[in-house]
Amino acid sequence: MKFGGTSMAGTERIRRVANIVRRQQAAGHEVAVVVSAMAGETDRLVNFCREANALYDPAEYDVVVASGEQVTAGLLALTLQAMGCKARSWLGWQLPVRTDDAHAKARIEQIDSAAVLASMAAGEVAVIPGFQGLTPDRRLTTLGRGGSDTSAVAVAAAIHADRCDIYTDVDGVYTTDPRIVAKARKLHKITYEEMLELASVGSKVLQTRSVSLAMKERVRVQVLSSFIDDGAPPADALPGTLIVAEDELEGADMERQMITGIAADKNEAKVILTRVPDRPGAVAHIFGPLAAANINVDMIIQNVGRERGETDVTFTVPHADLARTQALLEGQKEAIGFNRIISDGKVAKISVVGVGMRSHAGVAAAMFKALADRGINIQAISTSEIKVSVLIDEDETELAVRVLHTAYGLDAHDEAA
Ligand code: ADP
Ligand code: ASP
Ligand code: MG
Repeated sequence: MKFGGTSMAGTERIRRVANIVRRQQAAGHEVAVVVSAMAGETDRLVNFCREANALYDPAEYDVVVASGEQVTAGLLALTLQAMGCKARSWLGWQLPVRTDDAHAKARIEQIDSAAVLASMAAGEVAVIPGFQGLTPDRRLTTLGRGGSDTSAVAVAAAIHADRCDIYTDVDGVYTTDPRIVAKARKLHKITYEEMLELASVGSKVLQTRSVSLAMKERVRVQVLSSFIDDGAPPADALPGTLIVAEDELEGADMERQMITGIAADKNEAKVILTRVPDRPGAVAHIFGPLAAANINVDMIIQNVGRERGETDVTFTVPHADLARTQALLEGQKEAIGFNRIISDGKVAKISVVGVGMRSHAGVAAAMFKALADRGINIQAISTSEIKVSVLIDEDETELAVRVLHTAYGLDAHDEAA
């Protein structure tokens, strides 16, 4: 069981969480619980680091930001004990959760589960702070923002859990963010691949890495709400969204739409290089230095060459890397041979995702038409086997998501009674 920041925000909410945990134990399960810091706490800690030292050392940043989860883990153990439930906390360094040494974005390599399993077998609830780990030379690490989801899936894999239930502030995965589109519909099942694509294009309900880990380790993940009535049945009745392999979809999902979900991401910026020489090696000169600087390029378009053997190249990078990208390219101006850099941070990437695309033609065409009908201009396009993404003006984000949600028949009232 994993509980996110909103679910852990304050002693009253932690008591609710403890009740949910206790009910699972009473239903006959051995339970390990992974917790996030209280909502807002990690942001607060990150700000302290910035104030202390603008160019902070990531290793010491980890020491500071990992503390939020230590507090909630201890508080949940205390609350369970107050209810007469045996509980013990296991911090990242105590298990330990072994990671690499990429501070602030560490990857889990291995989790020693023996001590936790023994404690659980003795009837104790194991409470584990998410987000934190330990390097080979015993320094604290954190897993990147939203990383408690990944901690939970990794713990579930390590202890061979029957299921990993991710409790959050919405009662499942929806066709799009239900806080933005009121007509979003809850999905009972979604495939690992679809969830992975949705997470990576902006659906922050699960950290992307947690989904790839679950897919690799075949962990059964359910997303559900911790804001449920005290008398509600335990999660075995599966009230949330189950993430499943594609072969588990058949039968009940005959009525599935060709699109499963829609996501928006405002964290990318567009860069255009004008009048780049249209010859072999030109794009390698652009993207080589960006790759070397660890800047992730997402969408790329190279326009048809102009008469003089020149072309414009358009691409997107994370907002946070825009200034570095511009500086790097200016430094390579001679080598690349472009005329001008034009950049635009006010763009959004809208993506539609669904395994149904494998068997349906026309998904992209329907998207372009629906956007065109509302006068929304498309600035760039990229596709994968189960995804189509377009880049648009940031101001049109919500409109585009709503229009597409309706166009693909996803609105809640469209569901047959
Ligand atoms: P937690 O603190 O529990 O980890 P998060 O804020 O990280 O919670 O994730 C839950 C939020 O994800 C929801 O409040 C919702 O606004 C957002 N979200 C984005 N896309 C979706 C989606 N497709 N389905 C459900 N929630 C979504
Ligand atoms: N507290 C961490 C964060 O806000 C990890 C998490 O909650 O998943 O990023
Ligand atoms: Mg989260």
